[in-house]
Amino acid sequence: MTSNPNHLMELPRKILIGNDVICQLGSFIRDLNDKATIVSVISGNTVKTRVGKECVEALDSSSLKHKWIETPNASMNDINSSQLMIYQEQPNFIVGVGGGRSVDVAKMISFNLNIPFISVPTSASHDGISSPFVSIRGRDKPYSLKAHAPIGVIADTKLISEAPYRLQASGCGDLIGKITAVKDWELARDAKNEYFGSYAANLANMSAKIIIENSRKLKDRAYIRTIVEALISAGVASCIAGSSRPCSGSEHLFSHALEYVSNSNCGLHGERVGIGTIIMSKIHGLDYNTIIKTLENVKAPTTAKEIDVTEKEIIKSLLIAQSLRPERYTILNKIKID
Ligand SMILES: [Zn+2]
Repeated sequence: MTSNPNHLMELPRKILIGNDVICQLGSFIRDLNDKATIVSVISGNTVKTRVGKECVEALDSSSLKHKWIETPNASMNDINSSQLMIYQEQPNFIVGVGGGRSVDVAKMISFNLNIPFISVPTSASHDGISSPFVSIRGRDKPYSLKAHAPIGVIADTKLISEAPYRLQASGCGDLIGKITAVKDWELARDAKNEYFGSYAANLANMSAKIIIENSRKLKDRAYIRTIVEALISAGVASCIAGSSRPCSGSEHLFSHALEYVSNSNCGLHGERVGIGTIIMSKIHGLDYNTIIKTLENVKAPTTAKEIDVTEKEIIKSLLIAQSLRPERYTILNKIKID
């Protein structure tokens, strides 16, 4: 019998997806709170150049005052300095605009200051778009922290489709990882009596399956919406599970280990997760050839060489992966790697 403790599901309230929806940022915020007067926007410099004008026009047209804060890295320093500015401002919302780091910084500050947060992804590179999890550099633990889920998500598919293709392929790698993440979660249920939510597990699995089934078509930019919806669903699966379990297992531990071993010279998050999924699905006894084929079809890397890491670094990562998060039971607990 699996333990079944109470847990809180915190979900985004509004998700707007489509071409050019960034222009609706102001009315989107008004719909969430018609008394809102001021928002803080967090982004990197490149993103500000790309979408700053549209965002500012959208906020102005809804009579929302705004302060734009630039964050070069998602480091603890960035968070602390931006947080102080936002604390003094006391905005009604924090808007994180970017590919990953700025959204993470906004999410973390929103949690620390208890101010609702709106996620505006500019690429489809990972599932942090809609999840309550945040990865911050400069912590002693490499894995994600739990914060709040965004209250709203605006996914402008036109904007996202203009990001470099490599980011889109990386998003597919992050999604395919749900196959082994869910398998690891099942192991934890069986071996450790850990809470397991079938609905969240199925939802995460489904977002991987849609990538497998459509992998030949996904290179086409017209299919960006499929990837974005799958990433949002995966994030929502984490919200429902109340943990990152459905989205992050041994393949993510491997990815974190590789980052540590190679000093972060090891490709993008989803690229590492994709390669980790090949290895972990083989250890799980799953059909890893389908994983390879899918990653090849979407033009994501399938070998260490493609992300500039050595065989030695891969082996070292495999050896230390589980020790980075001992309490997260995965297939790496079950087998002896030497
Ligand atoms: Zn991930």
